[in-house]
Order: sequence, then structure tokens, then C-alpha cells
Amino acid sequence: MLDRPHPTPTAPTLDPFALAKSMSGYHFIGGGYVPSRSGKTFAVVNPATGAEVARTAEGDASDVDAAVQNAAEAQKAWAKMPARKRGALVHACAAVIREHVEELAKLIALETGKALRTESRVEANTVADILEFFGGLGSELKGESVPFAPNVLSVTVREPLGVVGAIIPWNVPMLLMTLKVAPALVAGNSVVVKSAEEAPLAVLRICELMNRILPPGVFNMLSGFGPECGAPLVEHKLVRKVTFTGSVETGKIVARAAANKLIPVTLELGGKSPMIVFADCDFAKTVSGALTSMRFTRQGQSCTAASRIYVERPIFDAFVAEMKKAVDTMVMGDPLDEKTDIGTIISHDQFAKVQGFIDEGTKTAGATAHVCSAMPSDPALKKGLFLRPVIFTGLDASSRLVREEIFGPVTVMQPFDDAEAVLAEANDSDYGLAASLWTNNLKVGLDLAHRLEAGLVQINQNLVVQANLSYGGVKSSGLGKEASLEAMLEHFTHKKTIMVNMA
Ligand code: ADP
Repeated sequence: MLDRPHPTPTAPTLDPFALAKSMSGYHFIGGGYVPSRSGKTFAVVNPATGAEVARTAEGDASDVDAAVQNAAEAQKAWAKMPARKRGALVHACAAVIREHVEELAKLIALETGKALRTESRVEANTVADILEFFGGLGSELKGESVPFAPNVLSVTVREPLGVVGAIIPWNVPMLLMTLKVAPALVAGNSVVVKSAEEAPLAVLRICELMNRILPPGVFNMLSGFGPECGAPLVEHKLVRKVTFTGSVETGKIVARAAANKLIPVTLELGGKSPMIVFADCDFAKTVSGALTSMRFTRQGQSCTAASRIYVERPIFDAFVAEMKKAVDTMVMGDPLDEKTDIGTIISHDQFAKVQGFIDEGTKTAGATAHVCSAMPSDPALKKGLFLRPVIFTGLDASSRLVREEIFGPVTVMQPFDDAEAVLAEANDSDYGLAASLWTNNLKVGLDLAHRLEAGLVQINQNLVVQANLSYGGVKSSGLGKEASLEAMLEHFTHKKTIMVNMA
């Protein structure tokens, strides 16, 4: 049903519940687990049951300072190491991650409610893939020779920026963290990550696993709340670069703090990604593509979720019907169960926010909410944050559900009559992260691809972020690119010019 391959499970590893407990209460600073200076911790909750699975360290400015000082000290020797050697070490981390894919997948399923088979295991494998990709790019940190004058050797060299502060969200924390940490490290920076409140465990475990290979202090991990732990990281005087993924509002706060220090910032923010389906598409493939595009297996909690689906009028009704039928076959249930396609929403707050959108859509005159799939019946899951996917029809462009990022399993389908009109609607958004077009007329597809305001446009597929392909939005979706060679060079190095007068 889904157009993404899912790796098969390897031999069972550690019990995720025991592993989560064993990591309770720690940051990872200077090559080892350390508790927060204040001794404070807060709960990590399994959203499928409501049970506390671990406690996590509650970091504050003093923990930030300890991590950044460690990172700054370690960065000196790290930057002197030949780039290819740094890359080789990052590449070697991938092998360690691959040995621990199963345990990382279970850990992330436990803390986020993302299904093991359709999401968590895929994410853990992608971490290794990203490490392998960036690990091979050490030699690409090249400069240029500049034809200034015959007797003056003039060259540029790529230098690291220093300590990078990385702030990550909860939806795909392992993957999004690795997109930041891997290029930053290969380029010769050291890194301090601030994990998301809701999902601090799997990324902490990755940090520990990578520290088995890396020199101590080059990769550090803090957990804590945004204003108390994230903000001091951005503001710390030794942090020379900030890379952030999260909401538009927080992104602006981070960008303002970075501007005060005049340091560069990369922002990957929200999206309201249109999916445009023409009547000449491959119908069955496109219905299946709509399920993938909407990231239903991630409960729609994705910046690139196709939360606006425009379908050419002649096939609109049939497409809605087939899509509903297909979503109905998706199994909602225990994230750790191999049969489960769809897990839970991350938290009560997020649940209430998404439910608010659903209520508003349902009350809108003329709108129909097609509620899909079925709630799990297992009594052990009765406190779980399960939310049935909803496909709305009959909402127009003025609806908040069409304009705002929902970050839940909710999509709005609208018919269209001509390509120019749908292009205008698709571009009439504050966001510009991703878009997809589904047609067998590649002349039309390519023309629209050029004119869609988005950082990533895909025709007849809608894959999630991939190593080697630049990823990042325009407009309110962010600043800068991730995942590619360009991302490493442009966002984690600066170019120094060196001139030698040999006259
Ligand atoms: P979400 O709504 O998905 O939680 P946020 O943008 O609030 O999105 O969170 C993304 C990340 O930003 C989290 O790690 C969070 O702790 C962090 N964060 C929140 N507020 C701040 C802040 N003022 N400064 C730095 N980081 C912050």
C-alpha cells in the first residue's frame, strides 16, 4: 500500500523500557552522561499508554555553559584533524547505529508513539544513511585558487565556524538531528544539541553511541525546555552558529537572538504542502501516493505533509472515495506492534490543537469530514492519544484548515478546473516548503514545478527528506538548506581568503 520500502526487523535487542529507565536524568557532556546541575528532571511519557517511561534532565543555563565549554575545548583538536579522517569517524558511527537500529526504533516508538514498522525503524536506518553520506564528504571541503595576479598566490579555504548549537523538534528527532550533527562535525565544528522536551531519549542514545567513536566533547546533548535551555544555548557567546528545526514562532525568536550576536542561523520551519493531482495521473499510484504524501503513518506530524490536496474535477469524487477506502485499511494501534500502520499523536497539547482544527472544520457550513480507519480496541491503549485520520471536503481557501499548519492526520481536498488557478491557490500560502504534482503530462508538470513557490517539488512521488538532496523552504518555511553537500559547505563553514605575495 505504501510506496516506501520498510526494512525488516533484525534480532531483538535491549528492552526499550529498561533502556529508557537506564538513561533517565542525564545530559551527555564531554564524552559522558551527566545529570543536570540543578538535579531537576521531568517526565517522558509514552503517548500510547500515558505511562511515564523515564525522566529526563531539565537543563538550564549552567548546563548549557558546561556543554558549550566542553564543545569549544574539543573543537580545537577536532578542527585540526584532516577532514577525511573526521569524515571517516562520522562514517564509522553509521556502523554502530546500524547495530542498534532495533533498539533505537523501539525507543523512539516508545517516546513518540510512532509505529515501529512504518516509521520508527525507517527513521533509525535513515540516521545511519545520513552519517554514511556526510562521512564521505570530507574531501569536498575544498577551496579555490583565484587568478588575482601572476606573482600572488590567492586561495580560499573552508574553515569550521566553531561550536554549533542545534535545536530539534519531536516529530522526527533522530533524523533531523543527524541532518545537523553529521555535516557540522565533518566540517570541523563541535556540536551541542538541545533535544525536544517530548522526545529526548533516542537522540541521547545516538549521542552516546556516536561518542563511542568520536573524541569526547565534539558531540554533546542537552535536554530541557525551550526558554530555559534552548534560549541560553542560542545566546551563549561561544556558540557561533545555530541550526533550528521547529515552529515559525520559535524560529523567529531564535533568529532574533542569533541576530543580536550576528551569528548565522539555519531555520527549517513549518509547511502547508500542496499536492496537485491531474485527471491524467496514474490513479491507483496517486491514491497510494496521497497516503504517503500526507504522512498518515506519522499521524500527519510532518512539515511536508500534503495537508492540501487539489484534485482535477473529473476525478475528484472518485479520488476522495478511493483515498478514504485506502486510509480505512490502515491499522491504528500499539506503536510497538509490527501490524500497526498508525500510532499516536505526541502529546495532549498537540492532540487538543489538532482536535481544535477538526472541530472547526466539522462545524463549517458545507464541509464534510470523512473520518477514516478505526480506533484500537486493546484496553491497554485506552489512554493512548489515538486520533482517527480525517479527510475534509467542502472547505474553501479561506478556511484556517487550508491556510495553517495542522501537524496532525488531517487533510483538506479541493477540486480544481485549470492549471493556472490551482497554481495560484497553491502559491497563496505563507509557507513554501514542499509540493507534489501528479500527472502523466510532464510538460505541464515541469512548467508548474518551476513556478511553485517551494523548496522541494516532486512529480509523481512525494518522498521524505533524502541524503544528497537539498532540503529547505522559502517564505515562512525557513532559511537555508539541509541534507546536501551544499548544506555542509554553505551552512557549517566560512570561506577564508589567503593571499601570498611571491614577488
Ligand atoms: P513545537 O511546537 O513543535 O514544540 P517549537 O518550535 O516550540 O515547536 O519547538 C522546537 C524546539 O525549539 C524544541 O526543542 C523547543 O524546546 C525549542 N524551543 C522552544 N522555545 C525556544 C526558545 N525560546 N529558544 C530556543 N529554543 C526553543
